[in-house]
Amino acid sequence: MRKMGNEASFEHWEKLALACGFTSVWPVDPKTLRFLPEVRAMCAEDKCRNYNKNWTCPPACISLEEAEQRAAGFHRGILLQTTETLEDSFDAEGMSAAIARHRDSFGRLLPLLRAEYPGFFPMGAGACTRCERCTYPGEPCRFPEQTAPSMEACGLFVSQVCRDNGAPYYSGPDTITFVSCILVD
Ligand code: SF4
Repeated sequence: MRKMGNEASFEHWEKLALACGFTSVWPVDPKTLRFLPEVRAMCAEDKCRNYNKNWTCPPACISLEEAEQRAAGFHRGILLQTTETLEDSFDAEGMSAAIARHRDSFGRLLPLLRAEYPGFFPMGAGACTRCERCTYPGEPCRFPEQTAPSMEACGLFVSQVCRDNGAPYYSGPDTITFVSCILVD
């Protein structure tokens, strides 16, 4: 199911996103998004070691309440996926390459969409890694227009967002999928 109100616009966004390197693009209905405190709370467990260390992560990034309020102003968005095949489930190098590809694609797409939709709301995959060392908390972010909070930091349960919007999340054994979301207009 890949239908949305204005199919021409989705096709335009899909074309831009695929050209930036994503492997698939899906329409997302902002009304399906649930900004869950329990997902945001997982950041504080610091399993990814970015909690309180990066401008795009809690507690510095957009609050759950702000994310929910901001999302309420949108009617349409896109889910962006990067799916890669791994050698096996322990293929750390393959996983690193996949997230790097996803972040590169996201970085290419942001300025293109911003030029057309300056008020858009991007939510990425994981902490920003643009700088070798994040300036947080001592100095302002070096590239605020090129960063975004992660979907999880905004309280979104990624597999649920995919499911609620008819997008796959699991592509089979020895694959990995990274997901970002941009609310466009
Ligand atoms: S662009 Fe640099 S300073 Fe800004 S959040 Fe990313 S890593 Fe930190």
